[in-house]
Amino acid sequence: MILKYFFMINFDQALEISLNQAFTFGIESVSFEEAAGRVLAESVRSDRDVPPFNKSAMDGFACRRQDLANPMHLIEVIQAGTPPLKSVTEGMCSQIMTGSVIPDGADLVVKVEDCSREHSEISGITEIRFIGEKTNVNICYQGEDLKAGEEILAAGTLLDTRHVPILATVGSVFINVFRMPSVGVLSTGNELVEPGETPGISQIRNTNAYQTIAQLAKMGIDCDYYGIAADDEDITRSMISEALQDNDILILSGGVSMGEFDFVPAVLDSLGLTIAYNQVAVQPGKPTLFGYDNHKFVFGLPGNPVSSYFMTELLVKPFIYRCMGHFWNPPVFRLRAGERIFRNKSNRLAWIPVRIDRSGMVYQIEYHGSAHIFSLRDADGIIQVPIGQTEIVIGESVDVRPI
Ligand code: AMP
Ligand code: MG
Repeated sequence: MILKYFFMINFDQALEISLNQAFTFGIESVSFEEAAGRVLAESVRSDRDVPPFNKSAMDGFACRRQDLANPMHLIEVIQAGTPPLKSVTEGMCSQIMTGSVIPDGADLVVKVEDCSREHSEISGITEIRFIGEKTNVNICYQGEDLKAGEEILAAGTLLDTRHVPILATVGSVFINVFRMPSVGVLSTGNELVEPGETPGISQIRNTNAYQTIAQLAKMGIDCDYYGIAADDEDITRSMISEALQDNDILILSGGVSMGEFDFVPAVLDSLGLTIAYNQVAVQPGKPTLFGYDNHKFVFGLPGNPVSSYFMTELLVKPFIYRCMGHFWNPPVFRLRAGERIFRNKSNRLAWIPVRIDRSGMVYQIEYHGSAHIFSLRDADGIIQVPIGQTEIVIGESVDVRPI
């Protein structure tokens, strides 16, 4: 292995370098029904006031507050979807349903359960008497949620299920979103067999490709899988170059370290990609590579599955979101350590899998290192321990990032 290919940098620098290279891949129009998981390429404005009219929040009687002390004549029944025909004047009221237009003259709605009703067959008059104690206005006023023309969703918003009804409300049935980048996934390693196969004595099952595909599926990316490349320079080159031809982003696993048969950096270099870094001062996840040319991006993730899982969360996902036009800022929860968390070496930034108990305290889970994929079974999240720090004391604040 030629050492000129190794560049160790800090994790924050690695993230910044990758994010600075990211670009979007064009714009397409989608139906609002398919908007969840996409990123808006334009702002969305309301086409009308919301509510569009003064609206009853209750089933009841629309009337004037000053008339409540006396019986009121019922003049009309207003259904939702039908405008009122009459104004409410002194001593009058209109029966009204939730969601109906408040008639002119009325300044509140009393609830149907707070009223008695008497009908005279002789006069044909129905009298409503308020018998409740409390009166709320029970009117949602026109424009109190939104004014016509107001921006409700900014360009760059990552749309979620919560945004679908908002788009429906303002009639944005087609929206411009950034195109999803195409992503290829390829594993390297002579020792790998696919999960459905029975491994030989020196073989293991390929976990990384499937975990990456699952992690990216959660963000709406439908990866193309290219299988396992044997640890052979020519095979690695031809499989990488095929996968690169078809995709905007290629995610490789394994073959990035210092081993005799780790061909990925040399192959990418020979294919004309710039390798921005291929070692990151992070634990786990040190043998992580990022390469690019004018059109394509490659992440070379570590072979060890925990490293690969973490680097997908911490480096690849922010990058892909940026390529989708979104500045991803994943939530972290500031909680307290329920036990002392200690490590021997502190020369790299550490990410440690943790669980959160029912009282919100944070505990380490059994973790034997970057190959120990079972450690993630009970993990609620991961915490950072900075370079130079060896311990977190009981009760200390920690930021838990869900995984
Ligand atoms: P490498 O980075 O290729 O040297 O691999 C480091 C370690 O991760 C080795 O123990 C590999 O067997 C293991 N490994 C590599 N690729 C995978 C994979 N796709 N699934 C599970 N383990 C892997
Ligand atoms: Mg390998």
